[in-house]
Amino acid sequence: MPTTCVIGLLWGDEGKGKIIDLFAAEADWVVRYGGGHNAGHTLVRGGERLVLHLVPSAILRPGVRNVIGNGVVVDPFHLRDEIAKLRQRGVTVELGTNLLVADGAHVILPVHRALDGLSERMRGDAKLGTTGRGIGPAYADRASRAGVRIGDLVRPARLDAALHRLLAEKNAILRACGDEPLDAARLRDELLELGAFMKPGIVDAGRLLREAHRRGERILCEGAQGVLLDVDHGTYPFVTSSNASSGGIASGTGLPPQALGRVIGVVKAYATRVGSGPFPTELDGEFAHRLREAGREYGSTTGRPRRVGWFDAVAARHAAQVSGTTEIVMTNLDVLRGMGSLRVARSYRLANDSGAEVEHFPAFDLDGVRPVFDEYAGFDEDLTRMRRWTDLPANARRYVDAVEARIGVPIATVSVGPERDQVIQRSAIQKPAIQNE
Ligand code: GDP
Repeated sequence: MPTTCVIGLLWGDEGKGKIIDLFAAEADWVVRYGGGHNAGHTLVRGGERLVLHLVPSAILRPGVRNVIGNGVVVDPFHLRDEIAKLRQRGVTVELGTNLLVADGAHVILPVHRALDGLSERMRGDAKLGTTGRGIGPAYADRASRAGVRIGDLVRPARLDAALHRLLAEKNAILRACGDEPLDAARLRDELLELGAFMKPGIVDAGRLLREAHRRGERILCEGAQGVLLDVDHGTYPFVTSSNASSGGIASGTGLPPQALGRVIGVVKAYATRVGSGPFPTELDGEFAHRLREAGREYGSTTGRPRRVGWFDAVAARHAAQVSGTTEIVMTNLDVLRGMGSLRVARSYRLANDSGAEVEHFPAFDLDGVRPVFDEYAGFDEDLTRMRRWTDLPANARRYVDAVEARIGVPIATVSVGPERDQVIQRSAIQKPAIQNE
């Protein structure tokens, strides 16, 4: 049984939470493979919104095992709070039963948060616009072999060695910057307490997943952020610090690359971006405000207003190709109602001397590119109650067809509202089972 993966194709916030929840109806395991609690996936159940940050999106599905894979960076303080909040909302979260955490996942410590803020301050106007949660510094320590891992939290001698390694250097930096050094003994006690809390759920996740895969169980890998935020294939340096594209799955879960079969890329019917960095199709002014309000485009983690723009087929095509996307889900088509004629960027005109029009994504020449748009007639109908492709107004169908042709990958599913059942299947072949509780 090939593993399925759901990833965002652009800059995140494509509505992956709902789509993962939908496809999780067919999964035995749902695995996060990268990112941290900077992700924010929104599920809507009976009109009630539930935002998940670290806990995988199938936590509402009874019988599914949710795994935080080794490629994720875990803030254990945050995880404990998130679990407590979910339980308060009546969601069953049992470590060791429906929630597992890879022992190899790296730990985000308070010092990583402090260093995140410090590095953004030092960058001044060139700041990246990170969520300030210590994700980047934790990944940096992983790469420089100074990190603490989840498995260390239940092994006091290993934890001591790891903290010694890390804090000698970090406290010297904090002191040099005039910040408070960390109290190693207090941190050790807190981490051991968190380790005891998490212990029933701490596992060798890679081994469990490989065994499950061999048994033919169905595994769904849940992407965080989007391909254009991938540290290697995104708009560097305005990217996240992990491989958000499907390329991060083998290293971030312990599954072999051959296990991956179906790659579902999620796009919104228009584009959004949070934080700094190139955004060729960005809109501003009154129209941008209307689109932002219609799509409720405010960050689910930070509450920041998202930048909004027209659909960018150049960027989406690049992302689909890099990630091996086999089918696309387009969300938020309902939001484009009443927006007048709709635009899709089919190519860019470069701002450099050549002024050339290019159809590929020019990663090193994005500054000042001007998108070349195709224009399509819009639609005024409310799509939120439509459930069949043929129910959609002809102009909406034409728009979806045009985007599909530009990306070159089938748009198999269209989403017309936040609720689980607000989806339209375009073809019988790629049909996720839609089950309502
Ligand atoms: P994620 O990080 O990719 O999961 O995206 P978010 O959850 O941050 O943002 C998606 C937002 O759009 C959430 O508020 C969803 O409930 C909502 N949403 C998802 N699909 C649709 C859709 O088709 N139409 C509308 N109007 N909202 C949607």
